[in-house]
Formats: sequence, C-alpha cells, structure tokens
Amino acid sequence: MDKKRRPGMGNLLIAYLLIAFMLFGVYVLLYKPVDVDKTYTDYQLKQDIKANKVVSVEVSQNKEIPTGTINVKLQDKSIEYYTPDVNETMKILEGKDIKYSLNDVSRAKLVERMMPYIFVSVLFAIYMMGLTTQINSASGVGGSAGLSDFGKSRARKDKKTGITFDDVAGLEEEKEELSEIVDFLKDPAKYTEIGARIPKGIILEGPPGTGKTLLAKAISGEADVPFFSISGSDFVEMFVGVGAARVRDLFADAKENSPCIVFIDEIDAVARRRGTGLGGGHDEREQTLNQLLVEMDGFGENEGIIVLAATNRVDILDPAILRPGRFDRRVMVGRPDVKGREAILKVHTKKKPLGDDVDLHEIARTTAGFSGADLENLVNEAAIKTAKEERKYITKKDLDDAFIKLGIGTEKKSRVVSEKEKKIAAYHESGHAILFHLLDEMEEVYTISIIPNGSGAGGYTMPLPDQDEMFWSKTRMLQNIQVSMGGRIAESLIFDDITTGASQDIKQASSVARSMITKYGFSENLGFLSYEAGEGEEVFIGREIGHQKPYSEAVAAQIDEEVKKIIDFCYSEAERILKENIDILHKSAELLLEKEKVTGAEFLELFDENK
Ligand code: ADP
Ligand code: MG
Ligand code: ZN
Repeated sequence: MDKKRRPGMGNLLIAYLLIAFMLFGVYVLLYKPVDVDKTYTDYQLKQDIKANKVVSVEVSQNKEIPTGTINVKLQDKSIEYYTPDVNETMKILEGKDIKYSLNDVSRAKLVERMMPYIFVSVLFAIYMMGLTTQINSASGVGGSAGLSDFGKSRARKDKKTGITFDDVAGLEEEKEELSEIVDFLKDPAKYTEIGARIPKGIILEGPPGTGKTLLAKAISGEADVPFFSISGSDFVEMFVGVGAARVRDLFADAKENSPCIVFIDEIDAVARRRGTGLGGGHDEREQTLNQLLVEMDGFGENEGIIVLAATNRVDILDPAILRPGRFDRRVMVGRPDVKGREAILKVHTKKKPLGDDVDLHEIARTTAGFSGADLENLVNEAAIKTAKEERKYITKKDLDDAFIKLGIGTEKKSRVVSEKEKKIAAYHESGHAILFHLLDEMEEVYTISIIPNGSGAGGYTMPLPDQDEMFWSKTRMLQNIQVSMGGRIAESLIFDDITTGASQDIKQASSVARSMITKYGFSENLGFLSYEAGEGEEVFIGREIGHQKPYSEAVAAQIDEEVKKIIDFCYSEAERILKENIDILHKSAELLLEKEKVTGAEFLELFDENK
C-alpha cells in the first residue's frame, strides 16, 4: 500500500459549506418573499423624482405580463414596490435626469441565468469531495491548515494531567506492570541504546469505572509527558472521513510532542471485529480503524509514543489490532477486592472530614462488586448529604444512606451481594481450586476470586496457563470434568440446598464427556469410531429431530449411557477427594471470604499447614 488515505479535511468542509450556501441562495431567490412597500406607488415615485430624492431606479419586468418589481434607490434608503404596469412606470422615468434600467428578469429568469454557475459549483464541490477521499500523502502534512483544524480539535491534549500513581488505589499489580512504561517515557534513550523493545500499544481491559482512564493519566503524570486522549465514540461521526482525519492529526500531534501518551478510550467503538456491525457508519468505522492501524505501524518501536487503549471487551476487538507491533500487551483492570476497595475509599475520603464512627474497612467489606467509580460516587453522595444538612463531618449514617440510595438503582442492585451468596461462591470456587491442585494432570491454581463480575457469575478460579500440550490424555479429560464438578459438589457438601451457579460448569463437563465418546473414541464399547454430526459441528436440536444423525437410535442410546458412566465416575471421584479434604475446603472458603481474591501461593499454604 503505497498511497495512504489522507482525507483533506479542509476540502471536505469547503465542499459542504459550498453546497449549503448554494441551497440557501436558491431558497432565497425562489421563496423568500420580497419585502415590498405596499404604500409606495408610481405616484409616489413621481413625487420623489420631483423632489430630487431619487438616485436610481431598477425595473424588473416579467415579459409575459405587464407587471413588475421596481427597486428605487433613494438618498437615504431603498424601496421596492410592485407596479401593475411596467410601461406606466417607464413613462415616468423616461427623459428624467436619473439613472434607470429595465431588466426583463423575473425570479425564475434569474435562477435560469444562475444555472451555469450553480452547475459549475456543484461540479467543484463534488471534485473536492473526491479529493477528500483520494488525496494522498505525497504532499506531506498538507491539507491540515486553516479550516482543516475542524478535524483536529477533538483530540484533547492535557499537558499535565497532574495525576500520579498515588491517586490510583488498589491496582498495585497493574501499576507495577506499567511502571516500566513510565520509566521508558522518562528516558526513551536508555532503552534504545541497549536495544530493548518497548511495546507501542497496551490495552487496558476491564469493566467500566475500574480506573482505566485514571491509570492512563497517572502514567503520563508519573512520567511527566503530555497526554493526548480521544474516545472511540467520538469517531462515530456524521461525515465520512472525519474519524480517519482525527486519528491522523492525533498522531501528528503526538509525534511532535514525543515522548507522550496517546489514550484511546472505548476503542471497541472503532476497532470492533470487522463485519459484525449492523449497517450505519460502518465504512466510517472501518476507515478510522484502518487509519489507526496505519498510524500504529507508521512509527517505530522506541519513538517515545505509547498508545494506551481502554475497553471492557477485548473479545469483540478486531484481531488485526492485537497483532505484534500494535496492541500486543494487555493489562487487566478488574474490580477491586476488599483491600483494594478500602484503599480506594481512603483516596476519596482524604480531603473529606470523616466522623469517628466511620470504619472504611467495614464499608469495603459490604461493597463487594463495587468499582472504583461506584465507591467514589458513594463517598461523594454522602458528602453532598452532609453539606446539605450543614454538618461538618460525614457520619456512618450518611454513608449508609448513600449506599442504600445507590444500591437501589436497578443495575447496581445486582452488584450488591449478600453474605450468603458470598459464602456459597467461596465454597464453590474452593471446590474447583482444591481439585485443580490435587489432580495431578491439571494445572496449578493461579488466582481464585469471589468478586462478583456484575453479570451473574459469582467468581472464578483461574489456573496457570496450560503447558501447550498438543494432546490431552484420557486421564486429563476425566480430571478436567472433575474440576468442573468441584464447585457444585462443594456447595452440596456444605449447604442443604444447591444453586444455579454451576450451569456453566455442567455444560463444560457434559461437553468434554460427550466428546470423549463421540470424537476421541475413548469408549471401549463404542470403539474407534467418530460419531460427530459432520464437519466437526455439534449436533444441534433442529437437526437431531431430523434424520441427520450419522448413527442409529440404538447407538445414540449407547452414547448417552457411556457419557453418563463417565459423569458418574467423575462425580464420585471428585466428591471423594473433596470429602477427604473438607478441612481445607473450609479454610479456603474462609480465606476467600476474608480477602475475596486469593493468589495461587496463598492458596497452597493451606495445604502446607495441614501436613
Ligand atoms: P474507567 O476508565 O475504567 O471506566 P475511570 O478511570 O474513568 O474508569 O474511573 C472513574 C473514576 O472512578 C475516577 O475518576 C476515580 O474517581 C474513580 N476510580 C476508579 N478506579 C479508581 C481507583 N483504582 N483508585 C481511585 N479512584 C478510582
Ligand atoms: Mg474511562
Ligand atoms: Zn464453577
């Protein structure tokens, strides 16, 4: 691709203005009522001429009929009036010592005369619009002067954000991870000299309000470099070409000011997987995305520009954006755990006088699932109430009231989790984690969390990335099923009732068990045969009813029976292991209830103590 698309914003704007101007002109000519003076007549004109008041007269006549419009220029003003008969008016004017003219031009005629000009103007406008999308970069940064600032102005540049890592609470690991970026921005040469490669683009991924923007600003504040920001939703523009032009200008600015940070908020608005948009502004987005990719590829690794982008959904991003040399580093910014929430509360109450009865740790405990923004909001709400009631200190009651007020909002309500729910989640996740650890073919535990994710899931247990094994053994598959079952089994061992929280686990376990039989031939009874629906597809309900199954009803029943056998075996194995380790199950759940998020190492300590 040798010709980069470089929309000339100035041209585009001029074209739009021109068209608007012309349309306005035509409107005026055709429809705007002429301001005629109904009191003025030929007689009055005669008088004014006698009195030497008239400077000039212009008579516009419509040829077909005798009427006309007379424009009289007096010394102090202009008057327009209708005459019933142009010939009569002409008689008054003839031989007098004043300038006059007769035009046989009605409004329609005027427009007719203007046609060639309009035509040429329209052609010109179209030509300019064409230029806009085809102009190439051969002329350098041309086209960004004057009116083209239109495309430029949206990127905000805050020379100094004034925000530091101290303002970002609770995201210790994330800050640690990003501190090398800060160091690089402070002194890019240090890294260049030794040949170290610093990523150009980093994606900050996490739910809204968790501090992604704050973190980006803090990086620029810590490194003391300029911060350029733009939001993906700004790109969703009316005019094609504007988004791309903005991206280009943003990077032009950044290059002039490097080292610096370019922050693209809501990147999913532009960088959504191609071909998934539902019409409307699609081309625009694609153009903008292409321009972004061109820009990212266009500057070198260590030029001192770090592009940070925020999104809450990496999975919907166009894979092109995640390629090496683009956004190839990801930092997860999750909802805070108890400790994090307490730290955030501390930051936001620093300048607010708190009453003695306020216990931030207690508030942190009762706000599981709250994001940093939610907490900030909570404290602010309490402060407003305190101020309104003209009190000097924020009390526990103010915070409780604020909590209720915010918690009542339908969406937030789901985030406030009861102690009971937390307890169930703690046992559930512990069940998974213990099996992860004790089953020898499974990976070690990396983190366990019972921080609600706001969309129903009560927590997660994340293993270390698996060792890239190409094949899974039969044992490993069986153990995988047992791990999936661990959550539900742990619940059933502790509580009288079980919950719906395991539906995903059940799905996972069944699908692995089924594939063992139908895909991998692990069943001795069914043997070395594939019973898949065809081309690797799962059999789906509609087809199952039809005659698409490549095997008989008898075989289907046999498959079900084999799957059931696997499931039963795994269930009793997993249950046995958890029962034998019930002490650890309790300890692990307690630890989770206390911390909400537990690292693999902390979890493993539970086993040491036991021995
Ligand atoms: P995001 O960009 O992830 O949606 P923001 O960075 O815009 O979230 O956060 C919004 C506000 O919430 C911040 O301005 C700050 O007041 C508060 N906030 C969020 N996370 C934190 C945090 N970790 N520490 C302190 N304040 C936070
Ligand atoms: Mg933000
Ligand atoms: Zn589970």
